[in-house]
Amino acid sequence: MPDTQIRTNIDFDRQGVQWGTLSVPYSHNLSGWSQLQVPISMIANGDGPTVLLMAGNHGDEYPGQIAIMRLMRELSAEQVTGRLIMIPILNVPASRAATRLSPLDGKNLNRCFPGDPLGAVCEMIAHYLTTVLFPLADFVIDLHTGGRGVYFSPCAHMHLVDDLDQRRAMARGTEAYNTDFAFLYADIAGHGLLPVEAERQGKIVITTEMGGGEVVPQPIHRLAQAGLRNVLVHSGVLQGEFHTRANLGLPPTRWIQSLDQRDYIFSPESGLYESLVDVGVDVCAGQPLGALHFPERPDREPTMIEADSDGVLIAHRGPTLTQQGDILVCLAHDVPEEVFRTFQNIP
Ligand SMILES: [Zn+2]
Repeated sequence: MPDTQIRTNIDFDRQGVQWGTLSVPYSHNLSGWSQLQVPISMIANGDGPTVLLMAGNHGDEYPGQIAIMRLMRELSAEQVTGRLIMIPILNVPASRAATRLSPLDGKNLNRCFPGDPLGAVCEMIAHYLTTVLFPLADFVIDLHTGGRGVYFSPCAHMHLVDDLDQRRAMARGTEAYNTDFAFLYADIAGHGLLPVEAERQGKIVITTEMGGGEVVPQPIHRLAQAGLRNVLVHSGVLQGEFHTRANLGLPPTRWIQSLDQRDYIFSPESGLYESLVDVGVDVCAGQPLGALHFPERPDREPTMIEADSDGVLIAHRGPTLTQQGDILVCLAHDVPEEVFRTFQNIP
């Protein structure tokens, strides 16, 4: 496999604060020799864990991008033990365009792993993370929202990885976000995800879904930022007070999962989707969750989208305008006790 074509002015072995870029070679019609500049900073101070912190994997997911840009400016070397590598916007062209997919190559960066050093821009970035940055890291944090397409109850989430030590470490990191829900999810829309490659390399992977749609209410920014700081304190890379939900006066995190294909409801037809239940609300089997209206046939009764089991509505569609096959609802269920025991410190 050839080496990466991405260059950086960051020296990952140097102590102190560094600001720089990852330079990704590409061509466009007014510049045959162009470089996409991906901002990056690193704070290194003595011995400790290495944390790789990223957002903007999908361009239209902004709370994490803002949370990381704040940290880049606010933190000093004295507050850090180990190495904190921060990339606030992995997919810069998509963030500029408010899109999920890169407008440069039409690709979903989060389906490009492990990547290709000679491939499209997204594939080159994925390959650089896979071969250069993930191997440096103990913790890999990738902050998402549901994008414009999906609105989530703000949650931290993770895969139920096979290695039990890794699973427990990921669960502790996921709980450190102090969200109401911690969510075990399945990959229902393809392969090549960033967290899967980081998990394969044995990293402690922590990810979020901080809302979605185009509106970011202030409480979601606040949660995205406070939770992130708490996760960094938990990792040992950042000094500060560690908060539990108990000392914040909150009930324990509720662990839920959507691991069955039936937990993900896709639109049977194109139309206008009316959500009938808010995210984070418990629902019963048979309960209407949404109604699909047909603007070309206003006389036609809407198609009702119903829960096929009891559960929690963890996410629903963002935009009203819906095409056949779009995701409408993600229905979650409490994690069974026998699974919960595999990642909690219960004998
Ligand atoms: Zn995303």
